[in-house]
Amino acid sequence: MTCKEFLAILDDVIDESISPGMRSEIEVHLRKCGHCEVVFNTVRKTIEIYRCHELYEFPAEVSESLHNAIMDRCRAAKGDSQSS
Ligand SMILES: [Zn+2]
Repeated sequence: MTCKEFLAILDDVIDESISPGMRSEIEVHLRKCGHCEVVFNTVRKTIEIYRCHELYEFPAEVSESLHNAIMDRCRAAKGDSQSS
């Protein structure tokens, strides 16, 4: 397996919709190719974080006050000249 081949099937690797034979080829490649290993770990972690956030919802009140606090900070950071 080459780096190009690995990157082409990266989505399937993350989804784990690959055959066991393919999986062992990937494992062999990742063991000898640090670049692909980093790419794979980064993508996998990003997707895990995204999935966790999707499952986790703030209560509406917390979400609103948090949103307001963030907006206040944004306004403060921009300065008064930007206010309308
Ligand atoms: Zn590689």
